[in-house]
Amino acid sequence: MTVQIDRGRAFLDEIERIARDVAAAHADEVDRDARFPVEAIDALREAGALSAFVPASLGGGGVPLTALARACLELARGCSATAMVFAMHQIQIATIVRHMDRGGWYESYLRRVVDEQRLVASITSEVGTGGDMSRSIAAVTQADGGLLRFEKQAPTVSYGAHADDFFTTLRRAPEVDEGDQVMVLHHADQTDLERVGTWDTIGMRGTCSPGFVVRCTFAPEQVLAAPFSAVANESQVPISHVLWSHVWLGIAVEAFERGRAFVRAAARRSRGNPVPAAHSLSRVMSELALLRAEVGSGLAEFVAADEDDDRDRLSTMASILRFNNLKLAASEQTPRVCMGVLEVIGIMAYKNDSPYGVGRQLRDALSARLMVANERVHSIDAGLLMIAKEV
Ligand SMILES: Cc1cc2nc3c(=O)[nH]c(=O)nc-3n(C[C@H](O)[C@H](O)[C@H](O)COP(=O)(O)OP(=O)(O)OC[C@H]3O[C@@H](n4cnc5c(N)ncnc54)[C@H](O)[C@@H]3O)c2cc1C
Repeated sequence: MTVQIDRGRAFLDEIERIARDVAAAHADEVDRDARFPVEAIDALREAGALSAFVPASLGGGGVPLTALARACLELARGCSATAMVFAMHQIQIATIVRHMDRGGWYESYLRRVVDEQRLVASITSEVGTGGDMSRSIAAVTQADGGLLRFEKQAPTVSYGAHADDFFTTLRRAPEVDEGDQVMVLHHADQTDLERVGTWDTIGMRGTCSPGFVVRCTFAPEQVLAAPFSAVANESQVPISHVLWSHVWLGIAVEAFERGRAFVRAAARRSRGNPVPAAHSLSRVMSELALLRAEVGSGLAEFVAADEDDDRDRLSTMASILRFNNLKLAASEQTPRVCMGVLEVIGIMAYKNDSPYGVGRQLRDALSARLMVANERVHSIDAGLLMIAKEV
């Protein structure tokens, strides 16, 4: 336990440095030009952060999920796109760590992640199913020489053009139901990415997430053997919601701190006279406190479920609802905090070239409710509410 805490602390010290000195320094340019945050991702690679969650026994950082979550928050304070790339990569690594068979292809793959600091992207959304992770249209089919292949129409693949590998959801075979899925880890040099869209968005511009037609031929051992329902319920969905919500909290914290800096500067100028903006900032602080509490308790509940060595608990309806609620609450509360700060500061927050500007934070925060549309999450929850014994 102490070793894990020390590892977590050293990791976070390095992440804070990268967030401050590298990610933040390039964030405005990354956003303006909708370009990949190459400097920050390179710095994370150099720090070995892409294998932070790989167990120490395989040469990785062996840091706990709590440290990854904190890292997402810190990075988001500097550059939301960097933080979201980091979060999406770590979700894939955590899924592999938690569901791979020991000694197999996936274990060798994790050793490659450690040595080569490979960046993994995720291809779950699909034209026709949208953000519905429980279904796939594209299927695994047979190819020559005992190999397998697929073609998937992917509407949004973050850092698709910059990833070393992809973790893709597919139907197990063309004849099975849309819900009978597997996950396949495939390398960029096995994959043909035909770009079919642009990425000129309101926010999260540096994630560089256009659509692609994805074609790949791969070996059978690249199919993750674990049942997809367990992978989704125990890892992909709840860890996504935990890490995304920490990214969003980081965005809100950064906006709030800009508001605080503005109010403190106003107080210095006012020479003891009341500062009305401070009063409004206090209201925003209570909104931020709600967000912090929800995000913190979501992480704590996930960690507790894992520590009990009772991962099945994560597949219960109550647990699915719990982590969906985390996503819903955090994605709606984050823009609220950013909007609150905009109103506290006023025009100096509205200006892009002001030290108190929160335009980028507000725009980035708007993506949260679309990253799996909240209406879709509500519709899953509505179905579960009808049948769940406890919530
Ligand atoms: C910044 C960003 C990065 C992303 N990166 C990736 C990535 O790397 N890989 C990836 O696979 N995906 C990625 N996505 C895609 C994302 O996770 C969603 O899958 C995608 O946005 C869904 O597309 P959609 O908005 O068209 O929603 P859809 O799920 O297609 O829904 C379309 C509309 O219908 C509504 N709707 C859908 N279902 C219901 C329902 N049951 N009840 C009521 N209304 C409903 C929704 O509100 C929405 O308005 C990313 C998205 C964003 C914003």
